Amino acid sequence: MLVVMQEGASPEQIQSVMDRMIQDGFDVHRSTGTLHTVLGGVGGKSEFDIAVFEVFGGVKEVHRIGSPYKLASRAFRPQGTVISIGKVEFGGNNVVVMAGPCSVESRDQIERAADIVADGGAKVIRGGAFKPRSSPYSFQGMGEEGLQFLRAAADRRGLLVISEVMDATQIPVMLRYSDILQIGARNMQNYNLLRELGKVRKPVLLKRGLSATIEELLLSAEYILSGGNYEVMLCERGIRTFETYTRNTFDVSAIPVVKKLSHLPMIGDPSHGTGRRDQVPPMARAAVAAGADGLLMEVHHDPDHALSDGAQSLSGPQFIELMKQLRLIAEAVGRTI
Ligand code: PEP
Ligand code: MN
Repeated sequence: MLVVMQEGASPEQIQSVMDRMIQDGFDVHRSTGTLHTVLGGVGGKSEFDIAVFEVFGGVKEVHRIGSPYKLASRAFRPQGTVISIGKVEFGGNNVVVMAGPCSVESRDQIERAADIVADGGAKVIRGGAFKPRSSPYSFQGMGEEGLQFLRAAADRRGLLVISEVMDATQIPVMLRYSDILQIGARNMQNYNLLRELGKVRKPVLLKRGLSATIEELLLSAEYILSGGNYEVMLCERGIRTFETYTRNTFDVSAIPVVKKLSHLPMIGDPSHGTGRRDQVPPMARAAVAAGADGLLMEVHHDPDHALSDGAQSLSGPQFIELMKQLRLIAEAVGRTI
């Protein structure tokens, strides 16, 4: 249930509605916007009379929410969520580019990546230290040492860090080095991990699962939000379809759909979305045109010799050229990069 309070509703009116919601068994989450306070009720009795709430003093409107996710829905925060990390804002007018190698491979490699990423104008460097590889025999990542290299390279160039956490036991070490915790496609439905991330007070980027519907993605976000961590951004990274030319099918339409259904910032990952370096620029341009709040892309100083995902990694010059194009696309849709 969602209760939208009238403009200027008094603290006492808000409190009495919250008390009644709690009496009905709801877990109440309060969101205060510039004009309206919105009270989101999670759980509670499945049968309740919304008219009871409609006549409370100071109430503007009450909605029974049909969709199974509530805190992730656009109605909970109609104005949209902006996640600020230092001077970087996700969900604002600026489209935030996050780029870097699939995996941290060495100090030298990540330092070179940081130069490419910063010179191109991106704000965040990516790099996996714990890698979810399809084969147990593939490179599994450098672990904490990789995170140390990543943090040092980022700090040298004034970048933020995003890196993937695969398991709840990795959360403490990840919190020490990373500004954003990435949840990979394979873990989108790891509900224990999602619950643990609900307790964290750092932004989380949640990727869409390989065969997850948009509703399932939003329900997974709900796990994190209902734990009290409201700093969640979502990411379209391609889904499995019958098409084999590309590694995955980049569902560009998921971007405007999520923006409509949810208030959370939406990111596009055209690297995993296509799996091919030659298809990354057109899909990156498409994602920005479709309204993405950010991009997550793989970039490597020597992609042909990358230890993971080289085929979909852009070289330095390709990335710099793409960033120029993306600025034009962003401007055409009233945004900046
Ligand atoms: C990655 O970002 O390198 C990664 C493993 O992504 P995904 O979870 O989307 O496969
Ligand atoms: Mn990768």
